[in-house]
Amino acid sequence: MLQQWQQELTQCVRTLDQLEKYLPLGQRNVLQKVMGNMRLSITSHTLRLIDFHNPEDPLLLMSVPNERELTITPEELIDPIGDEAKSPVPFLTHRYPDRVLIYVTFFCSLYCRFCFRRFKTGQATPGPSDQDRVCIVRYLQDHPEVEEVILTGGDPLTLMDDQLETWFTTLRTLATVKRIRIHTRVPVNLPSRITSDLVTLFRRFMDHQHPIYVVTHFNHPREIAPENVEAIARLVDAGIVVRNQGVLLKGVNDTAETLSRLYRDLVNIRVVPYYLHQLDLAKGTGHFRVPIERGIALMRELQGNLTGIAIPKYVLDIPGGQGKIPLQY
Ligand SMILES: *Cc1c(COP(=O)(O)O)cnc(C)c1O
Ligand code: SF4
Repeated sequence: MLQQWQQELTQCVRTLDQLEKYLPLGQRNVLQKVMGNMRLSITSHTLRLIDFHNPEDPLLLMSVPNERELTITPEELIDPIGDEAKSPVPFLTHRYPDRVLIYVTFFCSLYCRFCFRRFKTGQATPGPSDQDRVCIVRYLQDHPEVEEVILTGGDPLTLMDDQLETWFTTLRTLATVKRIRIHTRVPVNLPSRITSDLVTLFRRFMDHQHPIYVVTHFNHPREIAPENVEAIARLVDAGIVVRNQGVLLKGVNDTAETLSRLYRDLVNIRVVPYYLHQLDLAKGTGHFRVPIERGIALMRELQGNLTGIAIPKYVLDIPGGQGKIPLQY
């Protein structure tokens, strides 16, 4: 029998016909083309939060395909932060000495229209096979300096519990791996996925010297609905540290009021703001881009007005794989 979250995944809006029940669509052929670049999926949870009467609704902008995604500027790239250049074995990126990224799936519950991995997540790219996992383990055995493994994608928490268990079991066989970190937007878009079974599974693979960190991705205060608060509470109550990395997005969160509300609401539910990312130069995301000077000015406004524990680092990922740098303010 399907669990509630799995059922919810089967009920996502994935076609223009389904989307049309919520808002009138002009230019269907153009939108069809947009969806050729990145799939459409909106969970029923997020559908309930979107204000479909307002074409500029921030939650709508983040999830509904837009013809502006077809506008590609010369500086925009398929792989904007050079993940492929730093990939010694398939499905793994090793850019910093002490930590690696593993792409455990390219599936997401909701496809964010600004996604920087959109040309992977948006296509039906398969995730790692058992053989790929063997190669990843061999790489980690050869690289004992890697203390932290970050499961990313796609969204790792769209995997089934037994698939996650396989990854955790595999990683815990490596004495050099101390920390597991999970990058996920499921607490935002599919909070029903944070079941007590999932939390119990996490706990089985944690102890006082082997934590699990969850880094989630809220961008707007209206994404924090009662179901989201509950999902976060289940994680934090279980001893999982939850932090938030968001993206600065035009029309979504590019005012000091919205950002302070977001960060206050997050610390109030025990989520610690971690990064505010300058939007990467992914193809077709120009309509979301906020100039860096504006981002710096926003951070200046927050500093002093907002408790220090609620202020994230504003960072830029340098194109070509050089890594993240903090933007001074
Ligand atoms: C962003 C990133 C990380 C994580 O960096 P933190 O600063 O620890 O959050 C790890 N590996 C790669 C390749 C990254 O791009
Ligand atoms: S959840 Fe993450 S990987 Fe998936 S579409 Fe959104 S930003 Fe991209």
